[in-house]
Amino acid sequence: MHLYDLTIAQASGLLARREISSEELVRALLARVEAVDPLVQSYVTVCGDEALDAAKHADQQLAKGGAGPLCGVPVAIKDVFCTQGVRTTCSSKILETHVPVYDATVVAKLKEAGAILLGKTNMDEFAMGASTENSGFFPTKNPWDLTRVPGGSSGGSAAAMAAGLCLSAIGTDTGGSIRQPASHCGVTGIKPTYGRVSRYGIVAFASSLDQAGPICRDAEDCALVLSAISGHDPLDSTSIPAPAPDYTKNLGQGVKGLRLGIPKEVFDAPGLSPEVRKAVDGAIALFQDLGAHTVEVSLPRTDLAVAVYYIIAPAEASSNLARYDGVKYGFRAPNSESLKEMYHTTRSRGFGPEVRRRILIGTYALSAGYYDAYYKKASQVRTLLVQDFQTAFQSCDAIISPVAPTPAFRIGERVHDPLAMYLADIFTIPANLAGLPALAMPCGFSAEGLPMGVQLMARHLDEETLFRAACAFQKATEHHLRRPPLANERKTA
Ligand code: GLN
Repeated sequence: MHLYDLTIAQASGLLARREISSEELVRALLARVEAVDPLVQSYVTVCGDEALDAAKHADQQLAKGGAGPLCGVPVAIKDVFCTQGVRTTCSSKILETHVPVYDATVVAKLKEAGAILLGKTNMDEFAMGASTENSGFFPTKNPWDLTRVPGGSSGGSAAAMAAGLCLSAIGTDTGGSIRQPASHCGVTGIKPTYGRVSRYGIVAFASSLDQAGPICRDAEDCALVLSAISGHDPLDSTSIPAPAPDYTKNLGQGVKGLRLGIPKEVFDAPGLSPEVRKAVDGAIALFQDLGAHTVEVSLPRTDLAVAVYYIIAPAEASSNLARYDGVKYGFRAPNSESLKEMYHTTRSRGFGPEVRRRILIGTYALSAGYYDAYYKKASQVRTLLVQDFQTAFQSCDAIISPVAPTPAFRIGERVHDPLAMYLADIFTIPANLAGLPALAMPCGFSAEGLPMGVQLMARHLDEETLFRAACAFQKATEHHLRRPPLANERKTA
């Protein structure tokens, strides 16, 4: 097995026993990035020298013994997380040269755990998108088929993970941006409960929805990484004041007796491809074989979730993005005659079309006279959606659904049709609106050889049930073990 194919659990065993060094591992990954990333284009910035320095330090820690499971493990970070001394662009021209002076809490926690920052991954600009085509720099390709999108907005992270360009990749999820790209790239990702992971130092998109989480080869690795990055942070006022649990504790408990909710409306959603439906039905049958009971539940307002999201998220974005005015951060348009003109040209040139579209929608929805009709109404429906989940969770412990309606679509296929792009998140958005934890993992492959994913959602703070169910599933299946042909054919490391 190649070093770049290892899970974190495997790598940390080898590192702890000193069978490999962190430096060796980092060198193998960097060689792999050099060979494969020109095709996939998952990284915006690779931190080769810094990573090797950090690996040497990790090797000293490992030599002393007693290091944690992430010590010496190379990870990729979505370019939405502030990294001290390392450019943080949000894949936007407006932040192209921005170098933060501090680390996001997630980054600081990973470094504390001894993880090695390998680089920053590409994304849709300001995390707005579902294909990574909205990156202000270049689109990332799906490692399973280079003519297709990897999903988004954390498409760089998911593609890097699938192509063997890191051992874990961190993403953020506002409406599906961890789960949908994980599904399209055949890897496992979790969006934790809102407030579980600190948002401090994450460039804000929609503050009431944004949440960070890991993308990994399997659920066990996700549990390892989430244990390291979650927990209360006084620097984020919405961070939940509860200690970070050790999510790896009960992974082997199985699903006997687990009540698995099947939301009937979701499976009737228009646009759900028969192949995806079949793969998810197969996953349900397997959970039954493993001892779970299925119960039908109702989420009657599922069809309103996308509309609600596309009021609330742009509204919050329009407010959050007001800070990019050419004065405080990054790019400033030169040669303006007045302050107003400087604001105008900076923002028109610095932001791409999707970001401008969202700012316009959000500003409109919040304006006097329309606030009640749009933002207030959307917030009220959001509350109803939360109640629907509360009712559903009275009769089940987890809810199962597809992640995305179709396997990965072709690059260019939806860029000129924002509505078609927005519908990519029809199954993932409800968990963000309700603040619930949700996990995506591979459950099959299409006739064209593209990975398809299944989603599990649980009650607030019950990530443990998701991990337990996902581990049982992955123990009984091999979808997560498959690698894209690209990753196998190239001769590296
Ligand atoms: N695709 C959704 C959007 O464009 C979700 C993005 C996200 O989760 N960051 O807003």
